[in-house]
Amino acid sequence: MGIRSKLIAFAVGIAILAALVFDGYVLKTLGAELSAHTEDDLATRTALVTEIAARSGDLAAEAPALATALSKIAGARVTFIDPQGAVRGDSSVAPEGLGQLDTHATRDEVADARHLGTGRSERVSKTTRMRMLYAAQRLDRPDGPWVVRVAFEPVAIYRSLSAARTRVVEGTLLALALAVAAALAGARALSGRLVYLTGVAREMRADLGRRARMQGHDEIATLGGALDDLAESLEVSRRELGGEGERFGAVLESMREGVLVTDEKGDITLVNPALSQLLGIRRDPVGRPPLEVLRSSSLHELLEEVALARAAATREIEIAPAAPGVAGPPGRRILLVNAAPLALPAQSRGAAGVVAVFFDVTELRRIEGLQRNFIANASHELRTPVASIRASSETLLGGALDDPEAARDFVEVIERNATRLHRLVDDLLDLSRIEGGERPLSPGTLDLSVQAEAAVALLRGRAMERGTDVKIDVAPGTLVAADPRALDQILTNLVDNAIHHTPNGSHVVVRARAANGRVVLEVEDDGPGIPAVHQARVFDRFYRVDPGRSRASGGTGLGLSIAKHLVEAMSGDITVTTGAAGGALFRITLPTGAQKK
Ligand code: ADP
Repeated sequence: MGIRSKLIAFAVGIAILAALVFDGYVLKTLGAELSAHTEDDLATRTALVTEIAARSGDLAAEAPALATALSKIAGARVTFIDPQGAVRGDSSVAPEGLGQLDTHATRDEVADARHLGTGRSERVSKTTRMRMLYAAQRLDRPDGPWVVRVAFEPVAIYRSLSAARTRVVEGTLLALALAVAAALAGARALSGRLVYLTGVAREMRADLGRRARMQGHDEIATLGGALDDLAESLEVSRRELGGEGERFGAVLESMREGVLVTDEKGDITLVNPALSQLLGIRRDPVGRPPLEVLRSSSLHELLEEVALARAAATREIEIAPAAPGVAGPPGRRILLVNAAPLALPAQSRGAAGVVAVFFDVTELRRIEGLQRNFIANASHELRTPVASIRASSETLLGGALDDPEAARDFVEVIERNATRLHRLVDDLLDLSRIEGGERPLSPGTLDLSVQAEAAVALLRGRAMERGTDVKIDVAPGTLVAADPRALDQILTNLVDNAIHHTPNGSHVVVRARAANGRVVLEVEDDGPGIPAVHQARVFDRFYRVDPGRSRASGGTGLGLSIAKHLVEAMSGDITVTTGAAGGALFRITLPTGAQKK
């Protein structure tokens, strides 16, 4: 039932109740007043008739005529009753019919008048068969107490009462109609504002900026004001929360570390872009279990452990590379995972959600491995010449010194190994200086043909010893931006390698060409070349294709590594392939030098 129907029902109820109360009270009072007035009037007429009758000399004889005459004057039925109770005159009965009337002494009003002087009553007359109002008065005569009775038909009262009742009913109906109309109008005004407020509240769901802005000071206006206040504070909170969320989102977005959050059920609720990228997650992971997304049982165990124990834990996990075409990291990844339970109310039980932060330590672990490897390699490289020097010096001290022939051989071994040690230590120092940035390079514009000639000139003697032909095919004026000492070291190393790692009588060519702002420098030989499987690794420290041969020829296994570092420090790059003649073809690109004006 709507508020409108309720209001109408209420108003109609009130109107009906008011009508009933009014009807009952007014009609009753009105009826009582009317009869009191009529009875007084009748008593007055009776007294008058009695007074006139008292003057009659022979009432018994004159009664019929007197009754008729006085009835006309009094405007009522007049009856004379003798002391015996017989009717001796009656304005409503012809004189001949009087004898047939029964005794009237027992009529209430007559009996009362005889005893008390006056009497009254209201009843249906046996004589006239009409409802009558009677008033009687005793009239003492010499022959005994007579009774004069005046009767009156109270039609007027009933008529007045019935007219009044009709008025009251009409009034009630009118009041009802007015009440319904008033209730309708009131309800419409009231429910219209309520409907408006409901609409505003609904619109606020979509637009918190919406306001009711009700006029007035009644309860509904107050409700509207309260609704506006509520929306206002909601809007403020939402703005604050939104800002908070945005900041939080921005932090997550910009973090280089991966972040994963799970709920109490252990399903993922958040993965930041860094983690998606790190692990090659393509499908939306939210709502899925971590094991399905990351395929790492140790991560799964860690998350479960933290969720149940509600204590933070750290673990290093390894994620295998994904198969081609499948989502996942492109290479094997080593991740350091810090997992902590999400704060929970103290009294709650069961597992907690977990927030895990992932650090990609793949590169760190790789560098650590390289370092370990390098130290092992360096020690190994150093041990051989040191052992030779120790063995030779012990032999010398053990007596070989006395044999000048043998002593010379041992001292030569010592000298050769000391030179090798010296070169190794030099190269290692060089490498560590370049890597540590302690050897700053200052690239200037150099003429590559001049640089190549100078580097090769120093090696010509050794080349001639092996019958190797070294040719330079660099156009004079080929300008390159490079540090002169570094460029010399690179060229020397490449040409020296080409002489050393090829059979006697081989051919070596150094050539260069400029293209697209770069200078391409090539050193090619027609020796055995470097098998493709080794090509990528010959630039690693101590890496040799044939370790025995390299050492025998005095190589340290560091030359190409130093060359690569130097080239890269001058914004260039170096690669090796197999040349057309099957030999090694080293190709270096460097920026061109600025043209001299
Ligand atoms: P090394 O001191 O042994 O020359 P490098 O770093 O200069 O050390 O070279 C690494 C390895 O690359 C060599 O041991 C050799 O096996 C191979 N290599 C370098 N240059 C050539 C070349 N021109 N022809 C064949 N093999 C080569």
